[in-house]
Amino acid sequence: MTELLTADDAGVARAAAVLTAGGVVAIPTETVYGLAVRADDADAVARVFAAKGRPADNPLIVHVADAADAATVAAAVTPLAVRLLARFAPGPLTVVLPARPGLPRATTGGLDTVAVRVPAHPVARRVLAACGLPLAAPSANRSGRPSPTTAAHVLADLDGRIDAVLDGGPTELGLESTVVDARGDVPVVLREGSVSREDLAATGAAPAEVGAAGTDARAPGTRHRHYAPGLPVHVARPGTGDGLASRLAAAPGPVGLVRVGPARSDGGPDGGPPGDVRVLADLPDAAALGAALYGLLRTAEDVGLTALVIEGVAPVGIGRAVMDRLTRAAAASGGSGGSGGEDLVGRPPA
Ligand code: AMP
Ligand code: MG
Repeated sequence: MTELLTADDAGVARAAAVLTAGGVVAIPTETVYGLAVRADDADAVARVFAAKGRPADNPLIVHVADAADAATVAAAVTPLAVRLLARFAPGPLTVVLPARPGLPRATTGGLDTVAVRVPAHPVARRVLAACGLPLAAPSANRSGRPSPTTAAHVLADLDGRIDAVLDGGPTELGLESTVVDARGDVPVVLREGSVSREDLAATGAAPAEVGAAGTDARAPGTRHRHYAPGLPVHVARPGTGDGLASRLAAAPGPVGLVRVGPARSDGGPDGGPPGDVRVLADLPDAAALGAALYGLLRTAEDVGLTALVIEGVAPVGIGRAVMDRLTRAAAASGGSGGSGGEDLVGRPPA
């Protein structure tokens, strides 16, 4: 049985006790729910891989209470990492550094580097403080499923497979952290997230591309088979989603539509698009879509839509991370669009 814990003093104390004893507990962070275990305990770490069905060569992010604690798992905290952590910790930035030799190889997926983050979520911080240990925590979903942004998502994937979930309500950001290789002089973005390239550049170190001279690290996770939504996901340019959804709705079955930007009224009699199109969400901006995206994908599957149209967002700032996830969802599901937010209206959807 998986215990469902409330994020009050008793729940945090219980979570910390289970974790300290080597158990597996899902905890809220400001990005997504993390599946936490002691980072220093190879057996506990093995339990997290088993619960998720995660490939053993995909390393875990180690969460620490404070930027100064990065040194407890990293062999060296580079001047770049010190600068980035001073600016973005606590928050949704993960830095990759040389690993301390004592860290279990299971935690680092066999690499000689370690990914470190200081979460900002007050519940995650209380759990870390109560444990007094670094906690390894990948996203608390079964491998191949979207990252969970509520305790209910965690239970849908992992009920009976983990010891407990600490319910801290829906997560604020909804996208996984930005992962940056901070071993050199310039940050190398391994995974897009809420800390944008523009945010990184504003600290004085413009990020370099993976593969640029002297940058070899990749986030192993980005190599693995991506979560494939159970229905085709189509990404349309901002303002064109209604038209694409209506065209898709000509085929049998309901089509879901997620619109981003100012409300529009092109289409059907009630001001919505014609055809069997269900507007799942009207969202103000890319950040709101980032927060809602994984929940919307789960809903779209659960209610049996035949396709989902998401109006793409401009790939700048946090929009780049959102578009990264949308492009992957579209490609893995046999949908269309993404990256630049192609205008698919006027062309038959692929
Ligand atoms: P998750 O916690 O499930 O969001 O996944 C963590 C991400 O960080 C995955 O894409 C990992 O491959 C990546 N990551 C973790 N540790 C490292 C590392 N040492 N070097 C590069 N990427 C890492
Ligand atoms: Mg994950």
